[in-house]
Amino acid sequence: MLKIGCHLSSSKGFLHMGEEAVSIGANTFQFFTRNPRGSKAKELDEKDIKAYLDFAKEQGIGIVVAHAPYTLNACSKDDRVREFAGETLQDDLRRMEYLPGNLYNFHPGSHVGQGSQKGIELIADQLNAILTPDMHTTVLLETMAGKGSEVGGRFEELAAIIERVELKDKMGVCLDTCHVFDAGYDIVGDLEGVLKEFDRVIGLDRLRAVHVNDTKNPFCSHKDRHEKIGEGHIGLEALRRVVHHPLLRELPFCLETPNELPGYAAEIRLLREQDGETIR
Ligand code: FE
Ligand code: FE
Ligand code: ZN
Repeated sequence: MLKIGCHLSSSKGFLHMGEEAVSIGANTFQFFTRNPRGSKAKELDEKDIKAYLDFAKEQGIGIVVAHAPYTLNACSKDDRVREFAGETLQDDLRRMEYLPGNLYNFHPGSHVGQGSQKGIELIADQLNAILTPDMHTTVLLETMAGKGSEVGGRFEELAAIIERVELKDKMGVCLDTCHVFDAGYDIVGDLEGVLKEFDRVIGLDRLRAVHVNDTKNPFCSHKDRHEKIGEGHIGLEALRRVVHHPLLRELPFCLETPNELPGYAAEIRLLREQDGETIR
């Protein structure tokens, strides 16, 4: 069973997200743990979580992906910004224990002139301060487009972060199709080669989720602008090859395309199709 879904707004709670997911043919989804600007999170509503978990079980919604605010910078030069990122990550992971066994994805950060090596060290230090052996969430580093001084545009940088983390079994990677193509990994012309490279540098066993996005910019632009499926430079066929690839098809796939719910429903239908057949 393919797991495909999209990014949903968490403002009306978990049960509401579950219902929205089912209404568009999704069996996974992604949500922001709090306002993406990084403000204080609402306390979780345990009744809502309980209702969601029952609903999810009944409807076959499996693993879900929480996304940290994208404004966090765990490797900022500014101590206060870095501390804030650490506190937010820690608070999010505490809240994730209400939904054990899921994924928590974050953007590694931008080293803002300190150099990627320093950035890598700062990010790993933060993770070492936060991860605990008894937590039930896998923390994912997202592959980035390599915009500005972003850390994570190269597989080597993600591997170097994980290498420095003590509790490696808590760590994984989320591959974003728009970002890797933007970063210079040709998933259109050579998906096999990119997966081989990922396996060589990071290890495919670390790959836990995929963001399925088309891109507004040509190969290796380092811009990070998502496009609707089939309307950008990656194209529907290349994205279908990602979703149905034997090494990837067990993973959760989340769309982060510029769409409302009907657009997402149509993209989920499109991606489930392979050679004119709908793969469930
Ligand atoms: Fe992201
Ligand atoms: Fe993404
Ligand atoms: Zn992006």
